[in-house]
Amino acid sequence: MKGEEQTKKIPFWRSLQTKYALTYIVVIAAVLLLLNTYPMIASQQLTFQSKQTSLQSQASVISSALAGPEGLSREGVSRVMEVLGGTGLSRVLVTDSFGGVLYDSSSASGAVGEYALLREVADAIRGNDTFRSDYADGAFHSRAATPVVYRGMTVGAVYVDEYDTEQGQVLVSIQQTLRFISVVIAAVALALSVVFSKALTRRMDQLLRAIRIVRAGEYSHRVQMGGGDELSQLAGEFNDLTDRLQTTEEVRRRFVSDASHELKTPLASIRLLTDSILQNDNIDPETVREFVGDIGEEAERLQRITEKLLALTRLDAGAPAEIETVDVGAVVRRAEHMLEPLARAAGVEVILTLEPGLLIRCTGDDLYQIVFNLMENGVKYNLPGGRVFVTDKGSEDQVILTVEDTGVGIPEEDIGKVFDRFYRVDKARSRAAGGTGLGLSIVQDTVRRYGGTVKAERRENEGTRFTVAFPRNREEGLA
Ligand code: ADP
Repeated sequence: MKGEEQTKKIPFWRSLQTKYALTYIVVIAAVLLLLNTYPMIASQQLTFQSKQTSLQSQASVISSALAGPEGLSREGVSRVMEVLGGTGLSRVLVTDSFGGVLYDSSSASGAVGEYALLREVADAIRGNDTFRSDYADGAFHSRAATPVVYRGMTVGAVYVDEYDTEQGQVLVSIQQTLRFISVVIAAVALALSVVFSKALTRRMDQLLRAIRIVRAGEYSHRVQMGGGDELSQLAGEFNDLTDRLQTTEEVRRRFVSDASHELKTPLASIRLLTDSILQNDNIDPETVREFVGDIGEEAERLQRITEKLLALTRLDAGAPAEIETVDVGAVVRRAEHMLEPLARAAGVEVILTLEPGLLIRCTGDDLYQIVFNLMENGVKYNLPGGRVFVTDKGSEDQVILTVEDTGVGIPEEDIGKVFDRFYRVDKARSRAAGGTGLGLSIVQDTVRRYGGTVKAERRENEGTRFTVAFPRNREEGLA
């Protein structure tokens, strides 16, 4: 159910690709908006300022020329304006101190004799310089007005008006250029954002697909991802993880198949023996006893295997029991005592060389398990008249336990595999000695659990040597 949830398609608006592309687009849009507005506003402001300076100075020139003792009259103003010549302005109005138009440069809408109902004129008559300019449809429309003052008295007003399309056109063309640049940038940015976000999501999809394939059980699948960035690092980590998963899975499969195989053999023998008894009507009691004895032996074998399997499962599960400080020599002596009958029966002598007071951190049972398995193997895979030497030695920070024998030895090619679960060099011999092929893997797992190491090697002339190294515990007296 959970898997299905994870594989369902992500809605478009939630996908990383959309979020990534949207962020990119929003940033670009903001930049373009700024590019299209700020320069326009700034250049309009600049133009307004220059217009104000030029219009007001022109109005002042006219006003100064008009201020005279003879006062303002239509003829007088017209004369002065003729003398001043063309002003380059769209319109010039001169009014008396009541707003009555004395001169109008616009012949088409000549307003002479009328009142100039203009705000600027009214302001100027009150003695103020005024200016107003606006920009619309590619043209600057500016007006300025100034009073005509003679001997401290306002005798009239000059109003100038300019409709400038030239400067406006410059601004329009700048605006058009900026728009064109913006469209190009927007198109490139859009294309890039689509390409980049697609590339990103494609690589993520690749990873996601790989995870799903591995989840479905295909542990050999690996992702190939270049780029040297975080995603390729992620892919590398994923591949490492899958490697480990594959190894664990292989070990698990082999273990399950080996375990079922090991359990099948004694069960098949039991079936065979019971069938022989049941199908044979006139079987003599002696044979029945013999068969039942065999059945008992097989059952014992099953019990040994299941007990060891359980021990291994417990080790796999971790969480050791109460750890204590254990004296290695004492545990070796206990194991030797237990093995005495087996050793005697096999004609094998066990020789201990023990240093006193060597302590390690472990549980007594686990150390016993390790020592017993190694010593039992030394006896089991030995020859009559053979010997098993058990030695422990302390170094600065380690306790080294050696179990060596003069027995049958392990061939060079098998020595690396004896710690594998169910691995047996000589199956028949192991079976005959009641072996399960699990003893050494229990030894290895247990030793590792306490931070130690174990290795197997061939002795120079004959037999095998197992060396176990434990971290030493120096809390003397706690044994
Ligand atoms: P088993 O229950 O068969 O003894 P182990 O895991 O203890 O299983 O050992 C694995 C195999 O390693 C044995 O079957 C045996 O072939 C080999 N082996 C272990 N110890 C010795 C030894 N001291 N000398 C020779 N062979 C050994």
